[in-house]
Amino acid sequence: MLYMEPNELISGLSERQAFDDALVRACLTMNVSPTDEQRTRMFEHFRRVVETNRHFNLTRITSPADAAVKHYADSLVLLATAWVPSGRPTRVLDVGTGAGFPAVPLAIMCPQWRIVAVDGTGKKARFVAETATALGLANVQAIHSRGEDLAREGGGSFNLIVVRAVGRIAEVLGGLRGLIRPGTSVVFYKTDKIEPGEVSDGIRQARRLGLAPAQPFEIELPAPDGPLHRRLFRFGP
Ligand code: SAM
Repeated sequence: MLYMEPNELISGLSERQAFDDALVRACLTMNVSPTDEQRTRMFEHFRRVVETNRHFNLTRITSPADAAVKHYADSLVLLATAWVPSGRPTRVLDVGTGAGFPAVPLAIMCPQWRIVAVDGTGKKARFVAETATALGLANVQAIHSRGEDLAREGGGSFNLIVVRAVGRIAEVLGGLRGLIRPGTSVVFYKTDKIEPGEVSDGIRQARRLGLAPAQPFEIELPAPDGPLHRRLFRFGP
C-alpha cells in the first residue's frame, strides 16, 4: 500500500475538492452532470498529467481548478451542443489529442462512444494509451500518427472528428479529406479570439469537401481567473 504523509493526504484531498468544485460549477452552465465516479476518473487523469509534466511537457495548466475548467469542462462543451447524441454509439476521432483532450473527458462521459485519439508525438500517444488503460477506459484507443497520415492510409471510418488546439481549420480539414465520408461531422474547438480570416477560409475549404457549416456554438465557462469564452465550429452533413 502507498504510504502518504498526513500533509500530502490533506493537500491531495484539497486538490481534489478544488478540481471538483470548479468542474461542477462549469458543467452546470452546460447542463452536463458528471457523476462522482466520472469526476474521480477525470481527477485521476489530471493527476497523471501533472506527474508526467514533471519530465515531459504536456500542459502549462497545472492548478486543479484551472485545469478542471480549461481542460476538462472545456472538452465537454461538445456535449452542450445539439450536434451529438451522447447516448448513442458514435465512432469518434480526436486529431492531435496531446494529453488526451478532448478524447479522455468525452470517453469518460460517453461510454457508448468509441474514440480513437491520435497524436503526431509518440510520447503523448503513449501517455494517453497508458492512462486510458490505468483508468479502465476501454473505449479509447490512442495511436501515434499524424491525422493526415491516418487519412492517407484510409485509417478508419468516423461519424465525428474533433480537433482542439491543432492548427488552422482550412489546413486541418484539407489534411483529413481522406476520412471525410457522407455523414462525417468535424468539430473544431476554438475561442472567441479566432480570426475572421481563419473562419472564412475554413468555410470555403469545408464547402469544397462537401461539408456545410453550422451556426457556431458559443459558451462562457466560469474559470478561476474570469470567464472563458469558447466557440465551437461544426462542419458536416
Ligand atoms: N488537443 C490537445 C488539447 O487541446 O490540449 C492538444 C493540443 S496541442 C496544442 C497540439 C497537439 O497536436 C500536439 O500534441 C501535437 O503533437 C499534435 N499535432 C499537431 N498537428 C498534428 C497532426 N497533423 N496530426 C496529429 N497530431 C498533431
